[in-house]
Amino acid sequence: MEHFPPVYSDEDKMLAQAIRRFVDQEIMPVRDKIDDDVDHVLINSILNKMSALGVFGARVQDENVPPPSPYVGHIVAEEMTRGDAGIGLVLGISQWAMYAAIRAKNQEVIDLYNSMAEKKKPNLACYAMTEPASGCDVENLPELHGRTIKTRAVQDGDYWVINGAKRFPSNAGISSIYCVVCQTDPEKGEEGIAQIYVPYDAKGLSFGKFENKAGMQSDRNCDIYFDDVRVPLSYRADGPGKDAEYLKDNVTEGRLGSASAAVGCARGAFGEVLRYTGERVVAGKPIREHSIAAGILADMAMGIESARAFCLQVSLMQTRPEEYGSAHSDTMLSYTSMAKNYACQVAVSVTNKAMELMGSYGYIRDYQVEKYWRDVKEIQLWLGGVQLAQFDIMRGYYPFKVT
Ligand SMILES: Cc1cc2nc3c(=O)[nH]c(=O)nc-3n(C[C@H](O)[C@H](O)[C@H](O)COP(=O)(O)OP(=O)(O)OC[C@H]3O[C@@H](n4cnc5c(N)ncnc54)[C@H](O)[C@@H]3O)c2cc1C
Repeated sequence: MEHFPPVYSDEDKMLAQAIRRFVDQEIMPVRDKIDDDVDHVLINSILNKMSALGVFGARVQDENVPPPSPYVGHIVAEEMTRGDAGIGLVLGISQWAMYAAIRAKNQEVIDLYNSMAEKKKPNLACYAMTEPASGCDVENLPELHGRTIKTRAVQDGDYWVINGAKRFPSNAGISSIYCVVCQTDPEKGEEGIAQIYVPYDAKGLSFGKFENKAGMQSDRNCDIYFDDVRVPLSYRADGPGKDAEYLKDNVTEGRLGSASAAVGCARGAFGEVLRYTGERVVAGKPIREHSIAAGILADMAMGIESARAFCLQVSLMQTRPEEYGSAHSDTMLSYTSMAKNYACQVAVSVTNKAMELMGSYGYIRDYQVEKYWRDVKEIQLWLGGVQLAQFDIMRGYYPFKVT
């Protein structure tokens, strides 16, 4: 039984079906080999097939064309992540990194990124926010207002000169363009936050070694170093105040996208465990015919459906700023954080329980579930983890302060 949510339009269903076909044809047959693909030969061949479908690149939404369905972001994240969370992330991050330029209608930066498709295949973008000193403190804008951001951007004539370091960004070391969250003057707080785009071949830009992670090997992460990196002033997304707003927008958008990705992992693991427990016989009948297993499966189904419904509700809320505030309002920060924490809690539990129901087979790579189990844990940890999201949830209810 796999129904589409009732709120999906015919176009939404067609999009979901098209991604499902791609995932079933191109990812599922090789999914258990992806984490051993250290040189990214297999991974790049999948990304290049996605690239040929035109999924990478940025553009400003044409005001004369009706806006896309509110559920597009959720559909792409859920469906891609059922295939491979890391590959879904490579795509999601490339879009996320360009949001500031798109919102600011900074056509010069958008054209710069799109023009790189000729040279770099796949044409990826990176959003460099986390720093060695802390990730949460950069994301904790309601309280710290960007004062702890250590990467400095100083104006020198017609250029920004950037110095500092970033840690962990997805697509680091392999992207065409880097959106770098900088501070021009810590005293200015949010007014000093600048989001500046740096092309991959800028002088003074260098990278550390790729991190070795528990999962999600299709996403590359490494340190990024900025040593007197000079870019034109026009490579800043927008200006004082606006860049901080776009950073807050990215935190809320990122939390919601993470929630949708967690639903994709949970759904993938659920499909596997349903199939396996229908075939494997213990004590004279298939595992799922035992009432204890059916009860566990029922709880998984309930969790997945409610997490998805919550994601869709928050996606719809995002399209009604007159009622719920802009993407960076306390209300939207609270709801998107709830969606992330809830969907991740469900997905961590579903992948864990799926493994239990499959016995030791659940721990074996051929059976897919262990990869969902490894991948989803990181979705829960990034973008401030569970605790910062909990604080942000409560900020929607009362003026909560940690510091
Ligand atoms: C696979 C992967 C992909 C990633 N992708 C990106 C990316 O694309 N771009 C990017 O910029 N970063 C990225 N990151 C980094 C990630 O978002 C950060 O690691 C994360 O936000 C947490 O930062 P931290 O690890 O520095 O934890 P810290 O900031 O050291 O926080 C550790 C813990 O301290 C607690 N804590 C935090 N703040 C408070 C507080 N005020 N009060 C009490 N307790 C608190 C929380 O429990 C928190 O989880 C990625 C990381 C990985 C592993």
